[in-house]
This record gives sequence, C-alpha cells and structure tokens, in this order.
Amino acid sequence: KVLVGTKVDENHANWTTAYNMLTGIRVSVSRTNAKIDRPLTDADFEAKQKSTFDIAGNELVPSAKYDFKFKDYAPWVFRHLRALFRLDPADYLMSLTGKYILSELGSPGKSGSFFYFSRDYKYIIKTIHHAEHKFLRKILKEYYNHVTDNPNTLLSQFYGLHRVKMPYGKKIHFVVMNNLFPPHRDIHQTFDLKGSTVGRDYSEEDLEKNPRATLKDLNWLRRKRHLELGIQKKKAFMEQLQRDVKLMQKLKIMDYSLLVGIHDVQKGNEENLRDKTLQVFNPGGDGPDGEDFDPHSVLMRTPSKLESARKARELRQMIKSERPIPMAQTSSRMPEVLEEGHVRGGLFWNEDGGLRATHEDNTPGQELYYLGVIDCLTHYGVIKKLEHFWKGLSSDKTQISALPPQEYGDRFLEFMAGVTMSAEEAARDEQDRQAA
Ligand code: ATP
Ligand code: CA
Ligand code: CA
Repeated sequence: KVLVGTKVDENHANWTTAYNMLTGIRVSVSRTNAKIDRPLTDADFEAKQKSTFDIAGNELVPSAKYDFKFKDYAPWVFRHLRALFRLDPADYLMSLTGKYILSELGSPGKSGSFFYFSRDYKYIIKTIHHAEHKFLRKILKEYYNHVTDNPNTLLSQFYGLHRVKMPYGKKIHFVVMNNLFPPHRDIHQTFDLKGSTVGRDYSEEDLEKNPRATLKDLNWLRRKRHLELGIQKKKAFMEQLQRDVKLMQKLKIMDYSLLVGIHDVQKGNEENLRDKTLQVFNPGGDGPDGEDFDPHSVLMRTPSKLESARKARELRQMIKSERPIPMAQTSSRMPEVLEEGHVRGGLFWNEDGGLRATHEDNTPGQELYYLGVIDCLTHYGVIKKLEHFWKGLSSDKTQISALPPQEYGDRFLEFMAGVTMSAEEAARDEQDRQAA
C-alpha cells in the first residue's frame, strides 16, 4: 500500500484500457463543456451518453487508436460539480489527457479496484464495482445538493463517472476524483482511519520495508497520535465531518475512512523521496525526449511547441466562450506551457493546500495535514451480507468495521473527535491518565 505507482506505457498490461479511458474522457468532457451552460434538470441526473470509438472515426467521434465503447454518465451534473469544486475545464482536460501518461497504483485495497494518477498527480481514476457505480448514480442528486450546500465538504470530490468496454472485454466502470495529497510536498506519514480496531493494523515490521505504507487505526493509537488542531479549527473540522457523516448515514453508506496525510514542516521535502516519487508519477517530465509519448503523433503530425501552445490557448478560450470545439483541435497535443497549479480552495485546504496544525493558543504547529473522507460508495446492503455475518461470529460486535451505517458513522465521529486536539490538550490528557 505504498503510494508509488508504475508508469502505464505501451508495454503495460493495462495500457489499452488506460488509453481508452483517457480518450473517452477527453472527447466527452470537451463535448459537454463546449455547450452553453444551463441549469440542471432532473433528467440530467439519469442521463448517459454512449460513444463508439474506432480507428476510422466519424463526424461525432474522432478516430482512436483502438476500438472501444465509452459511456459518460450524467455529464451535465459532473460539469456542474467540477465548476462547484472550482476546476478549470481546460486544466482538467490537460492534466488528464494532455499527454497520455498515467501511473498505476495497482490495487491497494482488498476491493480489487485499480487506481491511476494523472501525470501531474492532481487526479485519481479509480475503477469501481458495478454496485458502487449504480449506487453513485442513485445518490448523485443528494451528493450534488450536499456539495452545493457544503462548499467545505470533506467527502471525496467526484469529477466524472464513466464506463469503457473493449471488444470481448468486460465493462469497466470508473470515477475521476481528487487526489488528496499534493504533488509538491512529501507526505511523511499516511493514515487510513475508520474508528474501528479490528483488523485495523498495518504490520510495524512491514513498515520498515515500506516506510510510506498507509497505516491504520491501531498504528495511530499505538503512536498516541493526534490531529493537532486548536479549538477553532477542531470545531470547524468536526462540524463539517458531522454534516458529511449525517449524509452518509442517511444514504446507508459505510466502510469509508478519513485519509490523513501528514507533512512534517521541519522535515520539509529533504527526504528526497519526493524526487523518486515524481519520477514515477510524472514520467513525462520536462526532459528532452524519450518518455514524452504522444499517442496522437501516430495518427497526426505532431505540432511544434509554439503551434501547440497556440492551439491550447484557443482550446481554452473556446471552452471559456463555449463555442463548439472542432474535434481535430482537441486531439492535438497540449503542451506544458499551460500547466498551472490548481490550488484547491476551502476551509480545510487553504494553508499550502492543506490544514496546518495549531497549538492551543492558535499559533501554527509542526504539521500540515492533507485530509478527506474516501471510499464512500459502499452501501450497507452489499457489505452486510458478507462481513457482518462471519466477522460477527468471532469478534466483539461493536468493534467490527461492518456495523450498520448509523452506528458506523457514530463510531467514526467519536473516534475522530477523540483524537482531534492540540498537543497541549493531549499532554494534559496523558497526565490525567497517568495520575488516575
Ligand atoms: P477497500 O475497499 O479494500 O478499502 P478500495 O479499493 O475501495 O479498498 P480505497 O479505500 O478507496 O480503496 O483506497 C485505498 C487506498 O488508496 C487509501 O488507503 C489511500 O492510501 C489511497 N487513496 C484512495 N483514495 C485516495 C485519494 N482521494 N487521495 C489520495 N489517496 C487515496
Ligand atoms: Ca477503504
Ligand atoms: Ca472500498
């Protein structure tokens, strides 16, 4: 479970899938964003748009390298969600499809989902199960309303829901979402917290081999860790978390976690792991040549740097002015020139893209947190049958992770509230404990 991926290149087993995912996103997102904006209707939440890609292409769909089918779900809803999350449409397309480079994290969880990072590390593509896909469509409206009412929501930000199908292949559903972790900072420690203790331990021995592994609740408790927030920040954080959990309880969601990445300000980026990581995540780099693979150069003349800068500028203007985008132009290569860091706004991401630890007196602490609630598409019905049954046989019922959604959420909040406190508060607590 280390956040280091492998580059997906032409020799990679999943190259074709990744290529088709990106081609589908590029075409469907630019198609939707080229239209003049309008308010959402109920029908937008149910909408799906199918495209068939082939080597020849046609007037609606540009030629592609492989034959495949692509489905775009609720394109207008996701367009609006991307706007709510303050993504620039041109930046979004360029991060994902400017160069066809992804890195694959493989399947870090036990669910079998695959994770891919965009080459600039801002976005994550996660393949999801059919049940999760159906569920997201079902709750999309409530999710949308929640995000609208809660600009600081800690829930995963969903930017797109799609499906690819290759000839003779399985249907692959996937979502595009935010990477909670920043490309420009070392994350010194990562925790995936559920508020449960059963099975929530990453082996400390393995940690020596895998210093960047994602740790869990028991590792957190063993380290007597705290989310060191002063009173004001704790209040804001817990209030938002409560609102988010309330929604999930209502929708009968469970098995989600709070993902916490910790950057130690004193350590900074000196560990130098970052360079190694970025090599993997951003293999295109700015280097002279080689890795910088452009799939369209196979089909088209590769434009010069100046030419592609101009085209990308035009593309951006067209998306902004909402004129239709001629397909040929969206398939041109998009250069690095236009890459700008997108800084996520909002209460919990506004200090260097993260949340700075604070002392009791509100002075800044040593750590910078990058956090959010992830894996929030598991409906209780799915898991109930599996886990509640066999785990319930052996373990203490309140400690297993497959509690009903109401209890799951309450336990989650209780755990988070219990571990969120300033270093000073934590020290006093510890003194009291020892005295008792
Ligand atoms: P399981 O159901 O077994 O928990 P999963 O396949 O559903 O696994 P997730 O729980 O969504 O996977 O994520 C697995 C790991 O991937 C997380 O613990 C975290 O390390 C990383 N990860 C997931 N989502 C994000 C994100 N948005 N930003 C950064 N890292 C993430
Ligand atoms: Ca999970
Ligand atoms: Ca999961």
